[in-house]
Amino acid sequence: MEKHHKVSLWYVLLGIWVVLIFQNILVSMFGVRTLPYSEFLNLLKDKRISEVAISANQMQGKFKDEKTGKDTLFRTVRVDPDTSKLLEQYNVTFKGEIESNFLPTLLSWVVPVFIFLGVWYFMMKRMAGQQPGFMTLGKNKAKIYMQEDLDVRFDDVAGVDEAKQELMEVVDFLKEPGKFAALGGKIPKGILLVGPPGTGKTMLSKAVAGESGVPFFSMSGSEFVEMFVGLGAARVRDLFEQAKKKAPCIIFIDELDALGKARGFGAVGGHDEREQTLNQLLVEMDGFDPKVGVILLAATNRPEILDPALLRPGRFDRNILVDRPDKQGREAILKVHLKSIKVAPDLDVGTIAGMTSGMVGADLANLVNEAALLAVRRNKKEVGMPEFEEAVERVIAGLEKKNRLINPREREIVAYHEMGHAIVALSLPGTDPVQKISIIPRGIAALGYTMQTPTEDRFLMSRAELLNKIATLLGGRAAEEIMIEDISTGAHNDLARATDIARSMVKEYGMSKEVGQVYFAREKRSRFLNVPMEGAVEYSEATAELIDNEVKAIINQQYTAALAILRDRRPILEEGARRLLEKEKIEGREIKALMAGN
Ligand code: ADP
Ligand code: ZN
Repeated sequence: MEKHHKVSLWYVLLGIWVVLIFQNILVSMFGVRTLPYSEFLNLLKDKRISEVAISANQMQGKFKDEKTGKDTLFRTVRVDPDTSKLLEQYNVTFKGEIESNFLPTLLSWVVPVFIFLGVWYFMMKRMAGQQPGFMTLGKNKAKIYMQEDLDVRFDDVAGVDEAKQELMEVVDFLKEPGKFAALGGKIPKGILLVGPPGTGKTMLSKAVAGESGVPFFSMSGSEFVEMFVGLGAARVRDLFEQAKKKAPCIIFIDELDALGKARGFGAVGGHDEREQTLNQLLVEMDGFDPKVGVILLAATNRPEILDPALLRPGRFDRNILVDRPDKQGREAILKVHLKSIKVAPDLDVGTIAGMTSGMVGADLANLVNEAALLAVRRNKKEVGMPEFEEAVERVIAGLEKKNRLINPREREIVAYHEMGHAIVALSLPGTDPVQKISIIPRGIAALGYTMQTPTEDRFLMSRAELLNKIATLLGGRAAEEIMIEDISTGAHNDLARATDIARSMVKEYGMSKEVGQVYFAREKRSRFLNVPMEGAVEYSEATAELIDNEVKAIINQQYTAALAILRDRRPILEEGARRLLEKEKIEGREIKALMAGN
């Protein structure tokens, strides 16, 4: 993508340069010289001007060049409205019109433009020729790539076993669409692969095509949007037309968020085009019968901003998470990439996997490459541990700039923090079961997470349950306080959520004795400025203070409770954190077993 932009910019610069050069050439050919008005007056006084044509704000004519002695064309700005009198005075023939100098001027602009377009066309053709499967569709030069006989297989994509399992079904379908339908299997239409960049979403999609032996059409969401109004929609139409002809096949749309952002997002112009394109996509998706065997795969790392219309049943109604790999996953990915280089027999892949916490598949591929290059530079026959160690440092330095990795000290804090949430949750009745605990960093906001899944949909929650929920949220910070006698900024989100619940308990659910069974409407906030609107607060200052005090009291109580729970179970906290640091991700079951054992 970026490359493409750069190329275009160079073209424009080159074009401007060509135009300027060409104009210079023409000017010297036709010899029209632009003179300052003062110079013109001097020439006039020297009687070297022979004829002049005057227009409203310009004059052109001939003057005798001193050096060559030849008549030379000139052009100057008309400053003095009474120039005609002046000319009369010096006996110069003049007329009120410009003799047609139109042709050279026109040529000087038109010819370079044509040359420029010609060069461009030639380059585009060559670029198109270099990429097999690159097709230009219709008149809009759509960049739709179609690849057949892909040799990517599921084995080439490692560390994403769950995603692979789900996609196996798609492979079954694509191999024999008819049979699958006859057996009554539910045919998927659109599948959304969700995960951070570089985790292998594109690769997985290609592997599905490779495994099932069907053509693979791919396009990037951002490419749709760059163009003129109407073209994006036409491209989508073309894409589906082509794909249907080749069915069974796969259509892969990368960066779906670029074109599928919720409509009306951001008011600055230019989203008309995106909207049209998105609508066309929805129309096409609704319009085809899944039995023909066209499967849509799309990738995004920001599912939350997608237009809900895209996620409705019959569209991208299936989500597959392609997450950052844990230690084991990284080991598997490294092994895939190590196949293509010659490594020292004593290379310890597990250790390398341990050093690369937070890296995704693309980072690991890059790492292997980097290590191989280092070995070449060192004239080694095999890539060994020293090369990998240095490569890890280099890749980490690159990623640190992007704020994507955390240091060992931080990892430890995060491990205690997440264990704190998990242990408090497991110790209290009525909290959602803990599924997974992870300290794999995912962006700046969340360094780790404790995943709790509700056992059933809840519509009512008791006061005790809400309190336990608050305690669980505060468990992270409580663990930090116990284990490192200091607290970090990592609990920011937890505190916000805990406070929110406490505030609702007091203001909306009438769960505070002091405040009583009263409902205080939430402050209405202005949608855009996020400040309370005037007249929105419907209670007195005294009540406001009472509410604040009650909220604080609830939070403090639950924090104390969390501290007590964790102090009682300190050995579990320590052991759990140790395991978490080692494996980066553990199942809730494991902690439960640990707690039952004690
Ligand atoms: P995404 O589409 O999620 O941004 P890609 O599929 O384009 O990621 O991955 C980019 C490159 O990173 C791949 O070509 C591959 O070399 C490497 N890679 C990423 N994920 C994996 C993986 N799970 N297993 C092996 N290689 C991977
Ligand atoms: Zn937390």
